[in-house]
Amino acid sequence: MALRCPKCKAGALKVVAALELGPDKRSDEVAFQVVACTACGFEGVAVYEESRRGALDDESWSHTAWAADDSAIAAARRLIASCWRPRYATCTCPAHARARGGVRGENIPELEGVDWETPLPIHFISSR
Ligand SMILES: [Zn+2]
Ligand SMILES: [Zn+2]
Repeated sequence: MALRCPKCKAGALKVVAALELGPDKRSDEVAFQVVACTACGFEGVAVYEESRRGALDDESWSHTAWAADDSAIAAARRLIASCWRPRYATCTCPAHARARGGVRGENIPELEGVDWETPLPIHFISSR
């Protein structure tokens, strides 16, 4: 399934790193990600949420990216790489604990280079 780049709109956005965080107060699945577009070079951090409780606005999932500078991208990659089981949602390592405490960066001061004021919705491109 292709992801549409929020900047150039090409179906070339890739999730290059991800930390599965499991359920939180409003979603059943949350993942903190680093995304990159192979077409235009856009890089950002992203949060994917999936809810089966109807807590999100009009869909059962949301996927949002925020543009980030090089140091914030490097910090996010380091954070995810510091966990040896990033797909294990119940992991209790420091990286998981920090990301779980605030996927918008509240607990991750290294992510100050992220443009949190400007959420960029990510959409799937249907194969039809
Ligand atoms: Zn792009
Ligand atoms: Zn972990």
